[in-house]
Parts: sequence; structure tokens; C-alpha cells
Amino acid sequence: MNYRITLLPGDGIGPEIVAGAVKVLEKIGARFGHTFEFTTCLIGGCAIDATGEPLPRETVETCLASDSVLLGAVGGPKWDTLPAAQRPEKGLLGIRAAMGLYTNLRPARLYPALRGACPLRADIVEKGFDLMMVRELTGGIYFGERGRREGKYGPEAYDTEAYSVMEIERIARAAFEAARKRRKDVVSIDKANVLETSRLWRETVHRVAADYPDVTVSDMLVDNAAMQLVRNPSRFDVVVTSNMFGDILSDEASQISGSIGLLPSASLGETRRGLYEPIHGSAPDIAGQNKANPLATILSAAMMLRYAFDLEAEADAIEAAVDQALLDGCRTADIAGGATEGILSCTQMTQEVLKRL
Ligand code: NAD
Repeated sequence: MNYRITLLPGDGIGPEIVAGAVKVLEKIGARFGHTFEFTTCLIGGCAIDATGEPLPRETVETCLASDSVLLGAVGGPKWDTLPAAQRPEKGLLGIRAAMGLYTNLRPARLYPALRGACPLRADIVEKGFDLMMVRELTGGIYFGERGRREGKYGPEAYDTEAYSVMEIERIARAAFEAARKRRKDVVSIDKANVLETSRLWRETVHRVAADYPDVTVSDMLVDNAAMQLVRNPSRFDVVVTSNMFGDILSDEASQISGSIGLLPSASLGETRRGLYEPIHGSAPDIAGQNKANPLATILSAAMMLRYAFDLEAEADAIEAAVDQALLDGCRTADIAGGATEGILSCTQMTQEVLKRL
């Protein structure tokens, strides 16, 4: 098969880590008989420098015409003083909107080789965990009506949460589909004891669940979920939740994995195309020094193979190569636990993964 992939390296370490992921995709292509056609476009600060805007039209058109999109990161101190509407982050929000991406998938797992970096208690670490957070991305309180007004106690501010049945149905389907590629268990998180949107959320998730009899589903209140994530994270497979709850819980989940530099993500919409990116930023402090950890971007490319192209064996092969490199002791500076000897550069770490593919 031939797949067209748009690359958006962006700023800071973006070009270095995306280059690593491209090498891995090329090797996978050669091994499994696929060709990947790459087109590189501008986004973020580098796009502002070259064209005056963070998301040039050509970038949007190329992304929409491709089979999938791999992004590095955007932003950096150089553009921090620009007005909000012209900042690099606008490019990221803009491309998510243009591609209609309403589902955010963030896996969080504990790498056996990096157990020492996990902040949880030893007996919990011993059990390990491997979960997928599915967050609704374009609805809820972040997009509801808001404002300031005169209230009962004087000036007040308000934000409103609204969810339509359609929005809940489609995120629930995304979660059940993701569960079918994993251990077939979904926990839906809400605050149904208080919020009407959560009661509609719960009803709708259970209605959708009827179409997925092979997947088990249960509900959990968000306060309990925040607690269970640190007490018993191995209990979770797929977690589905609203925009704000997901924002908070996915950060909690990434923290307990102890190695934010290893975490990939996917943003998906109605088409399978999707946008795949590491969860970390552009790391301006180490940009251009060949020190960045490329693994989160390489794992994002693996997610792309699995979710955009249904190439399960190919995605597994990349993940296994990364696992093996870590088990064999390969470390970039960010995951070396303070060690100074034997630290790998970005290109060396990429080579170690390639060797194990
Ligand atoms: P950051 O994630 O870029 O960096 C935080 C720390 O982690 C830094 O010390 C950095 O060196 C380190 N780090 C991050 N990724 C690493 C990697 N792959 N390998 C090794 N070390 C790594 O977060 P920040 O410093 O808060 O933000 C820097 C810039 O990135 C800002 O302009 C911010 O707006 C932007 N940002 C972009 C995205 C995105 O593009 N999705 C996300 C977050 C932040």
C-alpha cells in the first residue's frame, strides 16, 4: 500500500524528532512492503517567520489531501510576545479545527524498564498499567457560553457546559472502537450525581454500548477516577470522558507514567486521517542540540499506523522495538535518571530503535 503523510515538524526540537519518526516509518515500509510518501509543511513559529501566519492555507490543504498527519511541536520564546491570535499555538488549534478532530487518544503506560521514574508506591508499580484516555476535544465547558454579569453577590463570571447526544455518541463510538483494539473494557467517567450533562452522557454511552456487546462498560464518578488512577491504575483499559475532565485526568495519567517524553497522542475525527503528535512541547532549551528524545514521536507514528491505516502488526513492531531499546538500557538524557555516562543523542536513540526493527 502507498500512504501519503503530511509532516508538520514545527518548532524547537520538532524537526529533530520528526526526522527520527520518518526513518522508522521508512524502515517499516521496507520490511512490510508499504511506501510512505512524505510532504513537509509549515506550522507554528516557523510558519510565522516564513509567511506571517501560524497556519498557512497551503498547510491546511495539504493535510486535508493526505492520508494522515504527523506533528512535532510548535512554539518557543521567540514568538511568546506576539498577540494571542498570531501565536504558534493558533496554528495547532487551527489545524485541529480544520481537520474536524473531536477525539483525543492518549495512552499512558508504565515501561518496565523505567519503573524507577514512576512516582507511585512500589506495590502499585509492581502491577504496572497500560491505559488509553479518550477525551472529547471540541465540546463541553471549554466551548460553552461564558461571560461576566451582575449576580446575587455582585459581579460574577460564568461558563456553561453543554453536550449534544450527537457529540456524546461519536466520542463513545471512538472509545468502543479503541477498546476493540485493546483489552475490550471501557470506563466512562462523569459527574452524574450532580451534572445534567453527565446524566445525558451516561445514558448515551450505555445506548451506544449496545452496539459493542464484545466490550464491557462501566461508569465512574470523576472524583473517584482521579483517586483510582493513583491507587489502582492497572484497573483501567480505555477511559472515556468529557473535554474538561479529560484535560485534567490525561495529565494525571501522563504524570504517573513517570516519563512524559515517551507519550504519544492521536487526535481523530470523522475520517480516519487524524493528527498524531507527542504530548510534550518544543523543548526550546535543548532545540538544535541533538539531545531530544524521539520516542514519543516514534510511538505517535506507531499510533498512526494502527488507527489511520489499520496496520496492527507494523504498529506492534515499532512498539516492541522501543520496548526492547529501553529494556536494553538505551537512554536519552531526559530518561537517564541523572546518569551522565552512556547518554544517547536523538539520532543515536533512533538508530537503536531501527536496529531492533
Ligand atoms: P516542553 O514539553 O517543551 O518542555 C518541558 C521540559 O521537558 C523541558 O525541559 C524540555 O527540555 C523537556 N522535554 C520535552 N520534550 C522532550 C523530549 N522529547 N526530549 C527531551 N526532553 C524533552 O514544555 P514547555 O517548556 O512548557 O514549552 C515549551 C514550548 O512548547 C512553549 O512554547 C509551549 O507553548 C510549547 N508547547 C507546545 C506543545 C505542542 O506543540 N503540542 C505542547 C506543549 C507546549
